[in-house]
Amino acid sequence: MLTIDGSFGEGGGQILRTSLALSLVTGKPFKLINIRANRTNPGLQQQHLTAVKAAATISDATVEGDSKTSQSLVFEPGKVKPGTYEFDIGTAGSTTLVFQTILPPLMMCKEKSNLTFTGGTHNPHAPPFDYVNETYVRTLEQFGPVVKLELARLGFYPPGGGMFSAVVKPVEKLETVELLRRGKTLRRCARSLLVRLSQRIGQKELDYVRNNMPDWGGGELRLDVSDNAVSAGNALTIQFECEYVTETFTAVGTRGLPAEKVAENAVSYARRYTESTAAVGEFLADQILIPFALAGAGSFTADMISSHTETNIDTIKKFLDVDIKVLNEETHHRIDIKS
Ligand code: ATP
Repeated sequence: MLTIDGSFGEGGGQILRTSLALSLVTGKPFKLINIRANRTNPGLQQQHLTAVKAAATISDATVEGDSKTSQSLVFEPGKVKPGTYEFDIGTAGSTTLVFQTILPPLMMCKEKSNLTFTGGTHNPHAPPFDYVNETYVRTLEQFGPVVKLELARLGFYPPGGGMFSAVVKPVEKLETVELLRRGKTLRRCARSLLVRLSQRIGQKELDYVRNNMPDWGGGELRLDVSDNAVSAGNALTIQFECEYVTETFTAVGTRGLPAEKVAENAVSYARRYTESTAAVGEFLADQILIPFALAGAGSFTADMISSHTETNIDTIKKFLDVDIKVLNEETHHRIDIKS
C-alpha cells in the first residue's frame, strides 16, 4: 500500500483530496499520515471528513481513521458507482472542495451522476462557487466530460447552509488538451456580491478595482445584491472571459477585514494575470493538473507556480506514472505532462 506523508510541501488538505480522487480513479489503496500537519488545526476537519465520506460512499471503500482531527487515514476503494448522492458538510466548510474530490472518478466512467452538496459556497482560501462554475468546470469540459452546476443557495461562514447541485456526464477517456494561450479578452467584469450588507461595502470594492486596474470602466463594474443565503456575506470577483479560457479571481469578505483589503486581494491575483501571458492563474493551475495527468499528456501555461501546484505535482506522481515538467519562461511558466 502507498504511504503518503501529509506534511510534505504545502502540508494541507489538498494532499488528502488529490490522494482520494486518484485512489478512486486508479483503485490504488493508500495510507496518509501527518494529515494537514502544516496547518494550525491539523488533522481531518469537517470539510475533509466529508470528502473522505463522499469518496467512501461512491466506491464502498474500507476506511480507517475517518474521525474528527484524525491525523492518519487508511483508504481502500472499491468500484466507483456513478449515481445520485447528497453530501452535507454540516458546517460552512467548502462544498466545492468536496465536489472536486469526487469529480475525477465520476467524470471518467460509464454513467451519469447527480450530486448535491450543502455547506459553504464562498469560503476564503477555497474555490468559490462562481469560480468553479465559470472557470474550473468550463476548463474541465475541454477534456470531454459535460458538467452542469446549479446554485440553490449561497453559503458563507459561520453558518454555511449553501447548496448546489451538479450533473456529471462522464467520458471513458479524457481528451488531450493544450492550453498555452488565453487568446483575446472578449469580456471583463468585476462583481461585488452582497448579502444583507451595506452597498457601501460593494461600492468601495468596485472603486478599488477602478483605481487599481488600468483602463477598467464603469460598465465593467457591477453590484450583485442577493438575499439567498442563511447569513450575510460578501465576495468580490474579477473575471476575464478570453477566447480559450475564462479566468476568475475572487476574494471573500470576512468580518473585520476592510472592503479595500478584500479588493486588494482579488486585484493582486487579477493584476498578476494581466501582467503575464499565461492561459491560467495560480488556482486553476493547481486544480487542473489532475485532469491533465489523467489524460496522460498535454501542456498549459500558468502565471505562477504556487506551493499548492508543486505539492499537487508530487502527490499526483505517487499515483500516476506521468512526467510533469515545469519550465520557467519569460512571461509565464509552462507545464508539460507526458506519460
Ligand atoms: P487546509 O490546507 O487548511 O486543509 P484546505 O483543505 O482548504 O485547507 P488547501 O490544501 O489549502 O486546502 O487547498 C485549497 C485549494 O483551494 C487549492 O486548490 C487552491 O487553489 C484553492 N483556492 C484557494 N483560493 C482560491 C480562490 N480564490 N479561487 C479559486 N481557488 C482557490
